[in-house]
Amino acid sequence: MSLEHLWAGWRGEYVASSGAAPPDAGRSEEGSPPGDDPAHCVFCRIAASGPPSAENGVVWAGATAYVVLNAYPYASGHVMVVPRRHVGALGGLTDEEGAELWSALRRSVDALESALHPEGFNLGANLGQAAGAGIPRHLHLHSVPRWLGDTNFMTAVAGARVLPETLAATWQRVHEAWPG
Ligand SMILES: [Zn+2]
Repeated sequence: MSLEHLWAGWRGEYVASSGAAPPDAGRSEEGSPPGDDPAHCVFCRIAASGPPSAENGVVWAGATAYVVLNAYPYASGHVMVVPRRHVGALGGLTDEEGAELWSALRRSVDALESALHPEGFNLGANLGQAAGAGIPRHLHLHSVPRWLGDTNFMTAVAGARVLPETLAATWQRVHEAWPG
Protein backbone atom coordinates (compact mmCIF):
# COMPACT_ATOMS: atom_id res chain seq x y z
CA MET A 1 0.00 0.00 0.00
CA SER A 2 1.51 3.28 -1.07
CA LEU A 3 1.12 6.49 0.90
CA GLU A 4 -0.78 7.85 -2.08
CA HIS A 5 -3.25 4.98 -1.84
CA LEU A 6 -3.56 5.49 1.91
CA TRP A 7 -4.41 9.17 1.56
CA ALA A 8 -6.79 8.57 -1.32
CA GLY A 9 -8.44 5.86 0.75
CA TRP A 10 -9.29 8.35 3.47
CA ARG A 11 -11.90 9.83 1.14
CA GLY A 12 -14.14 6.88 1.81
CA GLU A 13 -13.76 6.82 5.57
CA TYR A 14 -16.72 6.45 7.80
CA VAL A 15 -17.44 5.15 11.23
CA ALA A 16 -19.75 2.17 11.44
CA SER A 17 -19.61 1.86 15.22
CA SER A 18 -21.90 4.86 15.54
CA GLY A 19 -24.46 3.23 13.29
CA ALA A 20 -23.95 5.99 10.77
CA ALA A 21 -24.38 5.60 7.07
CA PRO A 22 -21.32 6.41 5.01
CA PRO A 23 -21.23 10.19 4.65
CA ASP A 24 -20.22 9.80 1.05
CA ALA A 25 -22.50 6.87 0.26
CA GLY A 26 -22.74 6.50 -3.47
CA ARG A 27 -19.44 8.34 -3.76
CA SER A 28 -21.27 11.44 -4.95
CA GLU A 29 -18.94 14.39 -5.14
CA GLU A 30 -21.81 16.66 -6.12
CA GLY A 31 -24.04 18.78 -3.92
CA SER A 32 -23.28 19.97 -0.44
CA PRO A 33 -20.39 18.32 1.31
CA PRO A 34 -21.28 15.64 3.84
CA GLY A 35 -21.21 16.62 7.46
CA ASP A 36 -22.37 20.17 6.77
CA ASP A 37 -24.98 20.08 9.49
CA PRO A 38 -23.80 19.32 13.04
CA ALA A 39 -27.09 17.46 13.65
CA HIS A 40 -26.15 15.02 10.92
CA CYS A 41 -22.42 14.91 11.54
CA VAL A 42 -21.01 11.52 12.49
CA PHE A 43 -18.21 13.07 14.57
CA CYS A 44 -20.69 15.20 16.52
CA ARG A 45 -22.82 12.11 17.16
CA ILE A 46 -19.79 10.20 18.43
CA ALA A 47 -18.86 13.17 20.63
CA ALA A 48 -22.32 12.89 22.22
CA SER A 49 -22.30 9.08 22.45
CA GLY A 50 -21.04 8.83 26.01
CA PRO A 51 -17.85 7.51 27.57
CA PRO A 52 -15.32 5.38 25.67
CA SER A 53 -16.67 1.90 24.85
CA ALA A 54 -16.25 -0.86 22.30
CA GLU A 55 -19.71 0.10 21.03
CA ASN A 56 -18.93 3.71 20.12
CA GLY A 57 -15.32 2.86 19.24
CA VAL A 58 -13.99 5.76 21.32
CA VAL A 59 -10.69 4.77 22.95
CA TRP A 60 -10.17 8.02 24.85
CA ALA A 61 -12.25 11.12 25.50
CA GLY A 62 -11.02 14.43 26.92
CA ALA A 63 -12.59 17.81 27.66
CA THR A 64 -12.36 19.10 24.08
CA ALA A 65 -11.23 16.12 21.98
CA TYR A 66 -11.62 12.38 21.61
CA VAL A 67 -9.97 9.50 19.77
CA VAL A 68 -12.06 6.93 17.86
CA LEU A 69 -11.18 3.82 15.91
CA ASN A 70 -11.83 4.04 12.21
CA ALA A 71 -14.32 1.25 11.47
CA TYR A 72 -12.85 0.89 7.99
CA PRO A 73 -9.18 1.14 8.85
CA TYR A 74 -6.28 1.07 6.44
CA ALA A 75 -4.34 -0.78 9.08
CA SER A 76 -5.22 -2.28 12.45
CA GLY A 77 -5.36 0.48 15.02
CA HIS A 78 -6.14 3.29 12.55
CA VAL A 79 -7.63 5.98 14.81
CA MET A 80 -8.95 9.47 14.28
CA VAL A 81 -8.28 12.33 16.69
CA VAL A 82 -11.27 14.65 16.69
CA PRO A 83 -12.24 17.94 18.38
CA ARG A 84 -15.59 17.63 20.16
CA ARG A 85 -16.76 20.88 18.62
CA HIS A 86 -18.01 21.00 15.01
CA VAL A 87 -15.04 22.87 13.55
CA GLY A 88 -13.78 22.44 10.00
CA ALA A 89 -10.61 24.53 9.92
CA LEU A 90 -7.46 24.30 12.01
CA GLY A 91 -7.75 28.05 12.54
CA GLY A 92 -11.20 27.58 14.04
CA LEU A 93 -9.81 25.76 17.05
CA THR A 94 -9.21 27.57 20.31
CA ASP A 95 -5.70 27.30 21.76
CA GLU A 96 -7.02 24.87 24.35
CA GLU A 97 -8.65 22.67 21.69
CA GLY A 98 -5.54 22.77 19.51
CA ALA A 99 -3.32 21.83 22.43
CA GLU A 100 -5.51 18.91 23.45
CA LEU A 101 -5.78 17.70 19.85
CA TRP A 102 -2.00 17.67 19.51
CA SER A 103 -1.57 16.02 22.88
CA ALA A 104 -4.12 13.33 21.93
CA LEU A 105 -2.32 12.71 18.63
CA ARG A 106 0.98 12.22 20.47
CA ARG A 107 -0.64 9.93 22.99
CA SER A 108 -2.31 7.93 20.21
CA VAL A 109 1.18 7.13 18.93
CA ASP A 110 2.27 6.06 22.44
CA ALA A 111 -0.84 3.92 22.95
CA LEU A 112 -0.67 2.29 19.53
CA GLU A 113 3.06 1.62 19.94
CA SER A 114 2.57 -0.20 23.19
CA ALA A 115 -0.65 -1.98 22.11
CA LEU A 116 0.27 -3.05 18.59
CA HIS A 117 4.05 -2.61 18.21
CA PRO A 118 3.96 -1.04 14.74
CA GLU A 119 7.15 -0.22 12.89
CA GLY A 120 6.03 3.22 11.76
CA PHE A 121 3.14 5.67 11.54
CA ASN A 122 1.34 7.83 9.03
CA LEU A 123 -0.10 10.92 10.72
CA GLY A 124 -2.09 13.53 8.90
CA ALA A 125 -5.25 15.28 7.90
CA ASN A 126 -7.20 15.97 4.74
CA LEU A 127 -8.36 19.58 5.02
CA GLY A 128 -11.33 20.27 2.76
CA GLN A 129 -13.15 18.28 0.15
CA ALA A 130 -10.57 19.03 -2.53
CA ALA A 131 -7.97 17.30 -0.36
CA GLY A 132 -10.18 14.25 -0.04
CA ALA A 133 -11.74 14.78 3.37
CA GLY A 134 -14.68 12.41 3.80
CA ILE A 135 -16.23 14.71 6.41
CA PRO A 136 -14.80 18.14 5.49
CA ARG A 137 -16.79 20.18 8.01
CA HIS A 138 -15.51 18.41 11.09
CA LEU A 139 -11.76 18.46 11.46
CA HIS A 140 -10.05 15.16 12.27
CA LEU A 141 -6.49 13.87 12.30
CA HIS A 142 -5.52 10.36 11.27
CA SER A 143 -3.05 8.24 13.18
CA VAL A 144 -2.26 5.05 11.27
CA PRO A 145 0.21 2.47 12.56
CA ARG A 146 2.23 0.78 9.83
CA TRP A 147 4.29 -2.35 9.53
CA LEU A 148 6.98 -3.19 7.01
CA GLY A 149 5.26 -5.22 4.31
CA ASP A 150 1.84 -4.57 5.82
CA THR A 151 0.29 -4.97 2.39
CA ASN A 152 1.11 -8.65 2.82
CA PHE A 153 -1.07 -9.28 5.83
CA MET A 154 -3.78 -6.86 4.77
CA THR A 155 -5.10 -8.64 1.74
CA ALA A 156 -7.47 -6.67 -0.41
CA VAL A 157 -10.39 -8.83 -1.51
CA ALA A 158 -13.03 -7.24 -3.72
CA GLY A 159 -12.15 -3.84 -2.27
CA ALA A 160 -12.50 -4.95 1.35
CA ARG A 161 -9.47 -5.17 3.57
CA VAL A 162 -9.07 -8.21 5.73
CA LEU A 163 -7.50 -7.17 8.99
CA PRO A 164 -5.80 -9.46 11.47
CA GLU A 165 -8.15 -8.77 14.37
CA THR A 166 -11.63 -7.46 15.03
CA LEU A 167 -12.31 -3.84 15.89
CA ALA A 168 -13.52 -4.87 19.34
CA ALA A 169 -10.22 -6.61 20.05
CA THR A 170 -8.28 -3.60 18.77
CA TRP A 171 -10.45 -1.26 20.85
CA GLN A 172 -9.68 -3.29 23.99
CA ARG A 173 -5.94 -3.20 23.40
CA VAL A 174 -5.69 0.48 22.49
CA HIS A 175 -8.07 1.61 25.26
CA GLU A 176 -6.04 -0.29 27.87
CA ALA A 177 -2.75 1.02 26.49
CA TRP A 178 -3.86 4.68 26.49
CA PRO A 179 -1.41 6.60 28.68
CA GLY A 180 -3.07 7.92 31.80
ZN1 LIG B 1 -19.47 17.67 13.61
